[in-house]
Amino acid sequence: MKHVIHHLGGRGGERTLVVHGGAGDVAPERRPLHAAGCLRAAREGARVLAEGGSALDAVERAVRVLEDDPLFNAGTGACLNEEGRVELDASIMEGRGLRAGAVCALAGFAAPIAIARAALEDGRHVLYAAHGAARFAREKGFSPVDEAALVTEAARAALAAAQQGQPATSWAGGTVGAVARDASGLTAAATSTGGMVNKRVGRVGDSPIVGAGTYADDEAGAVSTTGHGEGMIRLAVARSAVERMRAGSGAAEAARAIIAHLSERLGMTGGVIAIDREGRFGLSRSTATMSWAAAGDWGEESGV
Ligand code: ASP
Repeated sequence: MKHVIHHLGGRGGERTLVVHGGAGDVAPERRPLHAAGCLRAAREGARVLAEGGSALDAVERAVRVLEDDPLFNAGTGACLNEEGRVELDASIMEGRGLRAGAVCALAGFAAPIAIARAALEDGRHVLYAAHGAARFAREKGFSPVDEAALVTEAARAALAAAQQGQPATSWAGGTVGAVARDASGLTAAATSTGGMVNKRVGRVGDSPIVGAGTYADDEAGAVSTTGHGEGMIRLAVARSAVERMRAGSGAAEAARAIIAHLSERLGMTGGVIAIDREGRFGLSRSTATMSWAAAGDWGEESGV
């Protein structure tokens, strides 16, 4: 075992939503802010569920709140690539019809998760890239934004630090995701990110890849991942964790086992949130931190 794996779970209920705000190493003084941001998003998502909305609507809503929060590496506040540009990745999936939608390397839009949702609803293709994703977004009525509006001082500082010698593989640790189960038993997952700080132009991570960053199947559960995207893709982490739940593992054990596997097999770190088909949730990380929050008809919790 190369990394220490932290995990928890076992709680939840019929209507439950869990979010993460990225695996990484958030400075101690900033941890309460990240937990509070996650809790705000989880509450918004849980409100959708309480009002009778679907798990799919709930995960989209929760991720949208986190995309709009400049604290997190998604939408506004996303990290910058090697040219100082924003290229966004996002995906969303529901576990009944196994419908999914995703966008990657998308520039100039503030809410990629909503565009991924539009792809899911449109149904013709699952994943749209770069200028094709932007064209799809415009066709579906989304308005482009000035890229400068998405760029924060913190994102500029992180790029400058990376370009002054921090390892080029360091990832941002502020990707966002959500998983949920609604009263009808529908499960859903969504993930959104700016990817890695100082990534090459055109680099696409795990977050928009169904099976790597996001997966949902009502027969087993739903998962969203964060961390070293190249490893998440190579181990198909989200789908693998869902398969562990299908085979009988609880959400917490499935989350722990897949993060242990990522560490043992590839020596890489990350985190996952998972929910099983009954609405019990679990989470795991091998990084120093992963902000998270959960809310539902049973109560709420958050942590880092
Ligand atoms: N998984 C994301 C990526 O590699 C980064 C992260 O979760 O922080 O694009």
